[in-house]
Amino acid sequence: MKCRHCGSALRCDFLDLGFAPPSNAYLAAEDLSRAEVYFPLRLKVCEECWLVQTEDYASAESLFSPEYAYFSSASTSWLAHAARYVEMISGRLGLGKDSMVIEVASNDGYLLKNFVAAGIPCLGVEPTDSTADAAEKLGIPVLREFFGEALGKRLAGEGNSADLILGNNVYAHVPDINDFTKGIKAVLKVGGTVTLEFPHVMRLIEQNQFDTVYHEHFSYLSLFTVGKIFESVGLRVFDVEELPTHGGSLRVYGCHTGDPRQTTDAVTALLAEEEMRGLRSAAVYADFQVKAEKVKNDALAFLIEAKRAGKTVAAYGAAAKGNTLLNFAGVKPDLLPFVCDAAASKQNKFMPGSHIPILHPDVISERRPDYVMILPWNIATEVRQQLAALAEQGTKFVTAVPDLKIQ
Ligand SMILES: [Zn+2]
Repeated sequence: MKCRHCGSALRCDFLDLGFAPPSNAYLAAEDLSRAEVYFPLRLKVCEECWLVQTEDYASAESLFSPEYAYFSSASTSWLAHAARYVEMISGRLGLGKDSMVIEVASNDGYLLKNFVAAGIPCLGVEPTDSTADAAEKLGIPVLREFFGEALGKRLAGEGNSADLILGNNVYAHVPDINDFTKGIKAVLKVGGTVTLEFPHVMRLIEQNQFDTVYHEHFSYLSLFTVGKIFESVGLRVFDVEELPTHGGSLRVYGCHTGDPRQTTDAVTALLAEEEMRGLRSAAVYADFQVKAEKVKNDALAFLIEAKRAGKTVAAYGAAAKGNTLLNFAGVKPDLLPFVCDAAASKQNKFMPGSHIPILHPDVISERRPDYVMILPWNIATEVRQQLAALAEQGTKFVTAVPDLKIQ
């Protein structure tokens, strides 16, 4: 296999999680008597550009199941994050009624609605119908397409070049990252700005976040690698911020190569930190498998010991992360009888692979298990607050990443 960015041969293994079904392939009761499709879940790292990437195995289209689309507006903390961003970037770039903002993967309009409210023209790009419908109801124009060079050129040709183009949690999910980046270059006005947010591979490694690996997540990015990809199409990273979202993300700011804006000290400092932490040498990547296996083994040992001691355990949050952990560990309903989730679209379905039933959050309060394992550890504080009444009755909360914690 060749690197998806630079085409070099991929020789260095990063992580092998065996085989798993797509993490969003939740099952209905009638599916449980059918065969389930598993794909290899293996990552490699390119020793030329240091892009960490999934092995090729299937076309992207077969993985995105619109029925279980994630609605960004479901998370209040994410809505607040989007509103703060819009206020900050509008001020920083001086956006107004003559500007054009394009968001790729605009989802249900969770972010662009803030530009609509401010009277700043905007356009969403979103291939999933259910979320695009929701955005249009908020008065946001949406193009129902996948973004890439062809669409970028077409938009520019139609006079829809962007003063600001943004993508939150989409850059790591596109199968052809070069084509996507060329699309940004094509649609960006002279003097325009692109911002992209994505989980930082440095934090993934440091915090053992192997469960953020799933098939739909094709790339695991450092600032160094994004800089390389930008340069290859005539863009330049001129600023970067570290964000706490998704266990540690980056927000990079880019412009055309020839843009007069100075590259900030934050870029220089973070590139140096990545180098210091070994992100441009094979050893740090080669060691990761052992770290992931320790997290998996500790979680599995906890579940087995709880069962032997006659304790009851339930999980909270039927998230993609949970599916990666549970399928890597081979956990089934005998060790973890149910998981609760607030999303109505997942309730009364089953987790892919593990076939653990997904129930309404009220069930967890009714059954009062001895332990609640919070699968989406990134929202553990929020979940513990929601379930504070259970804690008062003696339930303990468990998180597996970065290491097993019972509190
Ligand atoms: Zn490469």
